[in-house]
Amino acid sequence: MDKKTRVAVIGVGYLGRVHANIYRQLDNVHLAGVFDTDEKRARSVAADLGCESFSSLESLLDNVDAASVVTPTNTHYDITQTLIKKAIHVLVEKPICESYEKSLELVQLAEKAGIIFQVGYLERYNAAVIELGKHIHQPQFIETHRLGMFVERAIDVDVVTDLMTHDIDIVLSLIQSPLKTISATGLSVLTEHIDIANARLEFENHAVANITASRVSSKIYRQMRLFEKNHYYSLNFENQQLTITSTKSQCRSNDDIVVEKPEVTPQLTLNAELSAFIHSVNTGKTPLVDGRTGLEAIRVANLICKKIHER
Ligand code: NAD
Repeated sequence: MDKKTRVAVIGVGYLGRVHANIYRQLDNVHLAGVFDTDEKRARSVAADLGCESFSSLESLLDNVDAASVVTPTNTHYDITQTLIKKAIHVLVEKPICESYEKSLELVQLAEKAGIIFQVGYLERYNAAVIELGKHIHQPQFIETHRLGMFVERAIDVDVVTDLMTHDIDIVLSLIQSPLKTISATGLSVLTEHIDIANARLEFENHAVANITASRVSSKIYRQMRLFEKNHYYSLNFENQQLTITSTKSQCRSNDDIVVEKPEVTPQLTLNAELSAFIHSVNTGKTPLVDGRTGLEAIRVANLICKKIHER
C-alpha cells in the first residue's frame, strides 16, 4: 500500500476545520493533527475528527510531511517560515501575507527549500472558471463584483487584500499582458481598514479590468463579466454557471446572436484544491497557484491599496 501523506492543519477556525475534515476523508492522506492557539478549539476539532491536537507549532514539525496554514493573514509569515525551514510542504491560505515583501521572502525561502508551496486561491477550482478557460481567447474588458455581508473574520486586513485578490488572481491569469496603470478608490465603512473598493487595471495590450469588492453589502453577489471580439461571458461564482453570448463575425441582427450555457457540473472547490495540493506533494507537480502566482496577486493588491491611500 502507498504511504499516506501526513498532514496537519494550523488554525482551525471557520475555514481550517473544513480543511481538516477534507484531509481526513482523502484516501492518500493521514490527518496527523491540528494546532490552534485557541487550545479549547483545537481539542474540540481534534476530538470531532479523531486526530491529535498538537500543543505547539514546534511539536508538530517532526510529525508531518505537509500542512495547511489557515490562520489570520497577519500570522502567515511566522508560521509558514517555520514550516518551510523544516522542509514541510505548505498550502498557505490566500493571501500569502499582507505585504508583497514578506510574501516574496516566503516564496524565495520555499524555492530554496525545494518544497511544494501552494496558495489558497480556491476560485481557480470553481467549475465555471475552469470552463471559462476552455472558451476564452483574449478578453479586452473584464468587470467583476465580489460583494458580501460584514462578518467578524478577516478584519485584520482590508477588503482588497482579503477578497479582491481572488479576482485579481483570475484577471491576471486571463490577461497575459504587463500591467500598465492602476486607478482605484475605496473607503473604510465599518472597520479601520478599507471595506469597499473599486480598481481599474489597464494592461499594455489595452485590456481593462474593472474590479469591485465589498464586505459591507446586504447580500452575497459574486459575478464576473468578460468581453472579447464576438463573445460575452457571464460567470456566476456561487452557482458555478457560465453563459456565453456569441455572434457571427459580423452581427447584423438579433438572429446572429447565440446564447449557450455549457454543461458545467459544480464541484466542491476546496476538496479539489486540497486534492491537487496532495497530488503536487506526491508527484512534485507545480501547483496551479504556486508561490510566484500568489505573489503577483498580492503585488497588485498592494499597488491598489497604495492608490487608494494616495487619494
Ligand atoms: P478564523 O478567525 O475563523 O480562524 C482562524 C483560526 O486561527 C482561529 O481559530 C485562531 O484561534 C487561530 N489562530 C490565530 N493565530 C494563530 C497562530 N499564531 N497559530 C495557530 N492558530 C492561530 O479565520 P478564517 O476565516 O478561518 O480565515 C483563516 C485564513 O483563511 C485567512 O488567511 C483567510 O484569508 C483565509 N480564508 C480563505 C478563504 C478562501 O476563500 N480561500 C475563505 C475564508 C478564509
